Amino acid sequence: MLNLWNDTEAAKYDSELGLRVYTSRLLGRDKTLVLHGGGNTSVKLVQKNLFGANENVLYIKGSGWDLETMEAAGFAPVQLDYLRQLAQLDTLTDTQMANELATHLLKASAPAPSVETILHACLPHKFVDHTHADAVLAITDTTDGERRTRALYGDSVVIIPYVMPGFDLAKLCATEYPRQAGANTIGMVLLNHGIFSFGDSARQSYERMIELVGRAEDFLKKNGAWEIPTRGVRPARIDMLRQAQLRRALSTVAGAPMVMATHSDDDCLAFAQRTDLSTLSQQGPVTPDHIIRTKRVPMLGGNVEAYARDYKTYFDEHAPAAKEAKTMLDPAPRMVLDPAFGLATAGRSAKDAAIVAELYLHSMQVMQRAQVLGGYRALAARELFEVEYWDLEQAKLRKGGTPPLFAGEIALVTGAASGIGKACVAALLARGAAVVGLDVNLAVETIHRRQDYLGLRCDLTDEDAIASAIKCAVLAFGGLDMLVLNAGIFAASRKISELASAEWRKVMAINLDANLFLLRACHPLLKLALNGGRVVVIGSKNVSAPGPGAAAYSASKAALNQLARVAALEWGADGIRINSLHPNAVFDTGIWTDEVLAQRARHYGLTVEEYKTNNVLKTEVRSRDVAELAAELCGPLFAKTTGAQVPVDGGNERVI
Ligand code: ZN
Repeated sequence: MLNLWNDTEAAKYDSELGLRVYTSRLLGRDKTLVLHGGGNTSVKLVQKNLFGANENVLYIKGSGWDLETMEAAGFAPVQLDYLRQLAQLDTLTDTQMANELATHLLKASAPAPSVETILHACLPHKFVDHTHADAVLAITDTTDGERRTRALYGDSVVIIPYVMPGFDLAKLCATEYPRQAGANTIGMVLLNHGIFSFGDSARQSYERMIELVGRAEDFLKKNGAWEIPTRGVRPARIDMLRQAQLRRALSTVAGAPMVMATHSDDDCLAFAQRTDLSTLSQQGPVTPDHIIRTKRVPMLGGNVEAYARDYKTYFDEHAPAAKEAKTMLDPAPRMVLDPAFGLATAGRSAKDAAIVAELYLHSMQVMQRAQVLGGYRALAARELFEVEYWDLEQAKLRKGGTPPLFAGEIALVTGAASGIGKACVAALLARGAAVVGLDVNLAVETIHRRQDYLGLRCDLTDEDAIASAIKCAVLAFGGLDMLVLNAGIFAASRKISELASAEWRKVMAINLDANLFLLRACHPLLKLALNGGRVVVIGSKNVSAPGPGAAAYSASKAALNQLARVAALEWGADGIRINSLHPNAVFDTGIWTDEVLAQRARHYGLTVEEYKTNNVLKTEVRSRDVAELAAELCGPLFAKTTGAQVPVDGGNERVI
């Protein structure tokens, strides 16, 4: 375990709260310690109030903050003496606790204090660090985990049996700590949950965490439980359509579209191909912290409906004991394990699916190491339910807005590296869709660096290239709900008498043939879209009002227009809508340089400004205008429209 403390870096922080920020970030940098908002840290300070009196204040990590990107503003200052008084109470409900924490803050704009605030307050040390370290979980999450933990740490830690995070856990720690702690105590292990370290300085507390977790890692290595072999793993067998069907089934059970990512690296395949998979993976998560994102257990190969039934039964069995358990999470699994493809993870966004994957990649290691040590043992179903249900209650308290329009949906846009295509990508991302952008220009791969965007270089005249791009899309996001056919070329002005066959064929190949390939290849995926598949075709004013010198372009767009109309007729029964936009004179694209614009304007005896707004409304049409309408065509406003053609041209006399 690497100690990341660096004197030069640390010197930049000049206060105790500053150093608290620094070492919190050090913990956050190591993904084997904390992941995605997991873990928390605190410091106890004495502060003068407005009347000059000293006050004891606990600065505790606020919820919604990640240790890796921690800042002073992410710590909530709470009245420490009051917290210690609260710990004297016999009981305190979650709602009461949330209220007491919120009403005893010393800063109105502070984030909500962590659910583990009272626990931090009860520990006497100035600095307290808490992580869900993989190596510690691999030891505590075993049959006989307590004995193993005791043997490893001796009197250097206090050991707390599993209790759900919240007031009861804080109370238990408050009584157990003084009972067990001695001169050598530097930390506290919470079985099936994680580990605490503490100290007089930020550095001491941090370095004790590194020391304790390092000892756990050495213990695993000594016991042959560190390296997890992937030898003999069978290669993935992935059927693209089957993955899309699986995503559809997950979405149906969830009652909303879901993004699904497939992970077929050797680690995932080796785990999914274990002969003891059904016992190992079906016990529950390695720490309660993970349940909130991953839910109870992954689904094995099998079918989603059976999983959902099982989940409902589990909920009904445990619900009567929970107070007024009226709501349940949607019963769709967030993870699927299958020896054929490895691991699939799902969520309402690409980001959520990625978080589930990262958590589970760590969990797989913990479970397998624990299995080597003496058998993985997770929390009992009763305890799992409490955490899961508790999170549900917390979710009700959180201010949840309505999800974005295209949450959980996937769109594919061609010609995505520039102009209207690039603007379509932005419009769809802004509405919450995961987007796959295709373009012959390599720049498409880097126009966005975010989890819900996949840019792929692709020559659309190559059918094999299209097929492999679609496969990548399905592996990354699980399927396809929307398709924006935008890619096209506009060749130099040429009279028919001078139009070369090769040039004609090139324009047809890109503007027409490629769209047939795409429509044909995407059809089985669009058919599976929970909200119905949607196709937007970017046509042209030239369809109804062609211009001289543009024979190839006008003919290709007119043929594409007919292709779209026939598709609307053929695919209506599959619930797929196809609508076309006919833009004109969109100048903020790659082909229109200032020079070309000036030239064309002169050609018509107009200024550039007059030329740009040469339409009935005297308005300039930008890429963004077209893209916003393209995105809306995929939305509920046009749910009952197919085969339509909408001009986006500021009004054209020849078209009107
Ligand atoms: Zn915790």
